Amino acid sequence: MKKPVIAIDGYSSTGKSSISKVIANKLGLVHLDTGALYRGVTWFALQHCLDEKGSVNLEKLFSSLDQIQLEFKNNDGELVLYLNQNDISKQIRTNQVSDNVSLVAKQKEVRDFLLQSQRTLAEKGGIIMDGRDIGTVVLPNADFKFFLTASIDERTKRRYNELLSLGIEANEQQVKENLIIRDKIDSEREIAPLKQADDAIVIDNTNLTKKETIETILSRIKN
Ligand code: C5P
Repeated sequence: MKKPVIAIDGYSSTGKSSISKVIANKLGLVHLDTGALYRGVTWFALQHCLDEKGSVNLEKLFSSLDQIQLEFKNNDGELVLYLNQNDISKQIRTNQVSDNVSLVAKQKEVRDFLLQSQRTLAEKGGIIMDGRDIGTVVLPNADFKFFLTASIDERTKRRYNELLSLGIEANEQQVKENLIIRDKIDSEREIAPLKQADDAIVIDNTNLTKKETIETILSRIKN
Protein backbone atom coordinates (compact mmCIF):
# COMPACT_ATOMS: atom_id res chain seq x y z
CA MET A 1 0.00 0.00 0.00
CA LYS A 2 1.27 3.48 -0.86
CA LYS A 3 2.13 5.47 2.23
CA PRO A 4 0.37 8.83 2.61
CA VAL A 5 1.51 12.31 1.70
CA ILE A 6 0.72 14.74 4.53
CA ALA A 7 0.89 18.53 4.33
CA ILE A 8 1.22 20.59 7.53
CA ASP A 9 0.98 24.35 7.13
CA GLY A 10 0.40 27.17 9.56
CA TYR A 11 1.66 30.20 11.39
CA SER A 12 5.18 30.50 12.78
CA SER A 13 5.86 28.60 16.00
CA THR A 14 2.70 26.54 16.02
CA GLY A 15 4.90 23.46 16.42
CA LYS A 16 4.63 22.28 12.81
CA SER A 17 8.12 20.82 12.55
CA SER A 18 8.45 19.16 15.91
CA ILE A 19 4.97 17.66 15.58
CA SER A 20 5.68 16.47 12.02
CA LYS A 21 8.89 14.82 13.21
CA VAL A 22 7.03 12.73 15.80
CA ILE A 23 4.29 11.77 13.34
CA ALA A 24 6.92 10.76 10.77
CA ASN A 25 8.53 8.47 13.33
CA LYS A 26 5.23 6.92 14.35
CA LEU A 27 4.02 6.29 10.79
CA GLY A 28 7.38 5.48 9.17
CA LEU A 29 7.35 8.56 6.92
CA VAL A 30 10.10 10.90 5.78
CA HIS A 31 9.83 14.38 7.33
CA LEU A 32 10.77 17.49 5.36
CA ASP A 33 10.95 20.81 7.22
CA THR A 34 10.66 23.19 4.25
CA GLY A 35 11.20 26.26 6.46
CA ALA A 36 14.75 24.99 7.01
CA LEU A 37 15.35 25.20 3.23
CA TYR A 38 14.28 28.87 3.11
CA ARG A 39 16.42 29.49 6.17
CA GLY A 40 19.35 27.76 4.43
CA VAL A 41 19.07 30.03 1.38
CA THR A 42 18.88 33.03 3.75
CA TRP A 43 21.99 31.91 5.61
CA PHE A 44 23.83 31.64 2.29
CA ALA A 45 22.64 35.16 1.33
CA LEU A 46 23.86 36.58 4.65
CA GLN A 47 27.30 35.05 4.05
CA HIS A 48 27.75 35.86 0.37
CA CYS A 49 25.21 38.38 -0.91
CA LEU A 50 25.25 41.50 1.27
CA ASP A 51 25.36 45.07 -0.01
CA GLU A 52 27.54 47.84 1.55
CA LYS A 53 24.82 48.56 4.13
CA GLY A 54 24.74 44.96 5.29
CA SER A 55 21.35 44.16 3.69
CA VAL A 56 20.72 41.17 1.45
CA ASN A 57 21.37 42.07 -2.21
CA LEU A 58 18.61 40.09 -3.90
CA GLU A 59 20.01 40.35 -7.44
CA LYS A 60 23.30 38.94 -6.22
CA LEU A 61 21.44 36.13 -4.49
CA PHE A 62 19.42 35.27 -7.61
CA SER A 63 22.57 35.02 -9.71
CA SER A 64 24.23 32.84 -7.04
CA LEU A 65 21.41 30.33 -6.57
CA ASP A 66 23.27 27.75 -8.67
CA GLN A 67 26.01 27.74 -6.02
CA ILE A 68 23.62 26.57 -3.32
CA GLN A 69 23.40 22.89 -2.58
CA LEU A 70 21.12 22.05 0.33
CA GLU A 71 20.68 18.53 1.65
CA PHE A 72 19.47 16.83 4.78
CA LYS A 73 21.75 14.18 6.26
CA ASN A 74 20.81 11.65 8.87
CA ASN A 75 22.87 12.22 12.02
CA ASP A 76 21.93 9.49 14.53
CA GLY A 77 18.27 9.67 13.54
CA GLU A 78 18.28 13.47 13.52
CA LEU A 79 17.96 15.15 10.11
CA VAL A 80 20.59 17.84 9.83
CA LEU A 81 20.69 20.50 7.11
CA TYR A 82 23.92 20.87 5.13
CA LEU A 83 24.78 23.78 2.85
CA ASN A 84 27.55 22.86 0.40
CA GLN A 85 28.73 20.05 2.72
CA ASN A 86 28.67 22.20 5.90
CA ASP A 87 26.31 21.53 8.80
CA ILE A 88 24.23 24.73 9.18
CA SER A 89 21.55 23.37 11.49
CA LYS A 90 22.43 25.79 14.29
CA GLN A 91 23.08 28.84 12.08
CA ILE A 92 19.65 28.69 10.44
CA ARG A 93 17.95 29.21 13.84
CA THR A 94 19.75 32.47 14.64
CA ASN A 95 17.86 35.75 14.99
CA GLN A 96 19.72 37.16 11.99
CA VAL A 97 18.23 34.44 9.78
CA SER A 98 14.76 34.80 11.34
CA ASP A 99 14.86 38.55 10.66
CA ASN A 100 15.68 38.10 6.95
CA VAL A 101 14.04 34.84 5.91
CA SER A 102 10.59 36.18 4.97
CA LEU A 103 12.07 38.78 2.65
CA VAL A 104 14.11 36.07 0.91
CA ALA A 105 11.21 33.60 0.86
CA LYS A 106 8.82 36.00 -0.86
CA GLN A 107 11.02 36.16 -3.99
CA LYS A 108 9.80 34.20 -7.01
CA GLU A 109 13.36 33.18 -7.97
CA VAL A 110 13.92 31.63 -4.55
CA ARG A 111 10.57 29.83 -4.45
CA ASP A 112 11.07 28.45 -7.97
CA PHE A 113 14.54 27.28 -7.00
CA LEU A 114 13.16 25.21 -4.10
CA LEU A 115 9.84 24.05 -5.55
CA GLN A 116 10.77 21.13 -7.77
CA SER A 117 12.96 19.31 -5.25
CA GLN A 118 10.12 19.47 -2.69
CA ARG A 119 7.70 17.96 -5.20
CA THR A 120 10.15 15.28 -6.32
CA LEU A 121 10.62 14.13 -2.74
CA ALA A 122 6.88 13.52 -2.42
CA GLU A 123 6.41 11.57 -5.65
CA LYS A 124 6.80 8.16 -4.07
CA GLY A 125 4.53 8.97 -1.12
CA GLY A 126 5.41 8.33 2.52
CA ILE A 127 6.24 11.89 3.44
CA ILE A 128 5.10 14.58 5.84
CA MET A 129 6.11 18.07 4.75
CA ASP A 130 5.64 21.19 6.83
CA GLY A 131 5.73 24.82 5.74
CA ARG A 132 3.45 27.63 4.60
CA ASP A 133 2.32 26.64 1.08
CA ILE A 134 2.49 22.86 1.11
CA GLY A 135 -1.24 22.14 0.92
CA THR A 136 -1.93 25.03 -1.45
CA VAL A 137 1.01 25.06 -3.89
CA VAL A 138 3.68 22.41 -3.35
CA LEU A 139 1.43 19.38 -2.85
CA PRO A 140 -2.14 20.39 -3.67
CA ASN A 141 -3.08 16.70 -4.03
CA ALA A 142 -1.74 15.65 -0.62
CA ASP A 143 -3.78 12.89 1.04
CA PHE A 144 -4.11 14.88 4.27
CA LYS A 145 -3.78 18.59 4.92
CA PHE A 146 -3.61 20.28 8.28
CA PHE A 147 -3.37 23.97 9.13
CA LEU A 148 -2.05 24.88 12.58
CA THR A 149 -2.74 28.09 14.41
CA ALA A 150 -2.35 29.38 17.98
CA SER A 151 -2.49 32.70 19.81
CA ILE A 152 0.46 35.04 19.35
CA ASP A 153 1.31 34.98 23.06
CA GLU A 154 1.43 31.20 23.18
CA ARG A 155 3.55 31.07 20.03
CA THR A 156 5.92 33.70 21.41
CA LYS A 157 6.39 31.64 24.58
CA ARG A 158 7.15 28.52 22.55
CA ARG A 159 9.69 30.20 20.23
CA TYR A 160 11.36 32.00 23.14
CA ASN A 161 11.81 28.73 25.02
CA GLU A 162 13.05 26.99 21.88
CA LEU A 163 15.73 29.64 21.36
CA LEU A 164 16.84 29.41 24.97
CA SER A 165 17.07 25.64 24.72
CA LEU A 166 19.31 26.06 21.65
CA GLY A 167 21.54 28.40 23.65
CA ILE A 168 20.52 31.41 21.53
CA GLU A 169 20.05 34.69 23.39
CA ALA A 170 16.50 35.97 23.08
CA ASN A 171 14.24 38.79 24.15
CA GLU A 172 10.55 37.91 24.42
CA GLN A 173 9.30 41.18 22.92
CA GLN A 174 11.64 40.88 19.94
CA VAL A 175 10.61 37.27 19.40
CA LYS A 176 6.96 38.37 19.35
CA GLU A 177 7.64 41.17 16.88
CA ASN A 178 9.55 38.82 14.59
CA LEU A 179 6.66 36.33 14.56
CA ILE A 180 4.13 39.08 13.78
CA ILE A 181 6.24 40.55 10.97
CA ARG A 182 7.03 37.16 9.43
CA ASP A 183 3.38 36.07 9.49
CA LYS A 184 2.40 39.37 7.87
CA ILE A 185 4.99 39.16 5.08
CA ASP A 186 4.29 35.44 4.56
CA SER A 187 0.49 35.99 4.38
CA GLU A 188 0.59 39.08 2.17
CA ARG A 189 3.17 38.02 -0.40
CA GLU A 190 2.06 37.55 -4.00
CA ILE A 191 3.53 34.12 -4.63
CA ALA A 192 2.42 31.13 -2.57
CA PRO A 193 1.20 33.12 0.45
CA LEU A 194 0.63 31.51 3.82
CA LYS A 195 -3.02 30.54 3.79
CA GLN A 196 -5.22 27.69 4.71
CA ALA A 197 -6.06 25.30 1.86
CA ASP A 198 -9.84 24.98 1.37
CA ASP A 199 -9.65 21.29 2.18
CA ALA A 200 -7.29 21.58 5.18
CA ILE A 201 -8.28 20.55 8.69
CA VAL A 202 -7.66 23.53 10.98
CA ILE A 203 -6.27 22.93 14.45
CA ASP A 204 -5.97 25.76 16.96
CA ASN A 205 -3.47 24.36 19.47
CA THR A 206 -3.28 27.36 21.82
CA ASN A 207 -4.60 25.21 24.63
CA LEU A 208 -3.32 21.86 23.44
CA THR A 209 -0.06 20.21 24.42
CA LYS A 210 2.23 18.95 21.68
CA LYS A 211 1.07 15.41 22.48
CA GLU A 212 -2.60 16.40 22.18
CA THR A 213 -1.99 18.09 18.81
CA ILE A 214 -0.23 14.95 17.57
CA GLU A 215 -3.11 12.76 18.77
CA THR A 216 -5.65 15.01 17.03
CA ILE A 217 -3.76 14.73 13.75
CA LEU A 218 -3.26 10.97 14.07
CA SER A 219 -6.93 10.41 14.81
CA ARG A 220 -7.93 12.31 11.65
CA ILE A 221 -5.46 10.28 9.59
CA LYS A 222 -6.76 6.97 10.99
CA ASN A 223 -10.35 7.96 10.26
O1 C5P B 1 9.02 27.17 9.40
P1 C5P B 1 9.98 28.29 9.70
O2 C5P B 1 9.46 29.25 10.72
O3 C5P B 1 11.35 27.82 10.00
O4 C5P B 1 10.05 29.07 8.31
C1 C5P B 1 10.87 30.22 8.16
C2 C5P B 1 10.33 31.09 7.04
O5 C5P B 1 10.48 30.43 5.80
C3 C5P B 1 8.85 31.46 7.10
O6 C5P B 1 8.60 32.57 7.94
C4 C5P B 1 8.56 31.79 5.64
O7 C5P B 1 8.98 33.09 5.32
C5 C5P B 1 9.46 30.81 4.90
N1 C5P B 1 8.75 29.62 4.43
C6 C5P B 1 8.00 29.72 3.28
N2 C5P B 1 7.40 28.63 2.75
C7 C5P B 1 7.50 27.43 3.35
C8 C5P B 1 8.22 27.31 4.55
C9 C5P B 1 8.83 28.44 5.09
O8 C5P B 1 7.89 30.81 2.71
N3 C5P B 1 6.91 26.37 2.80
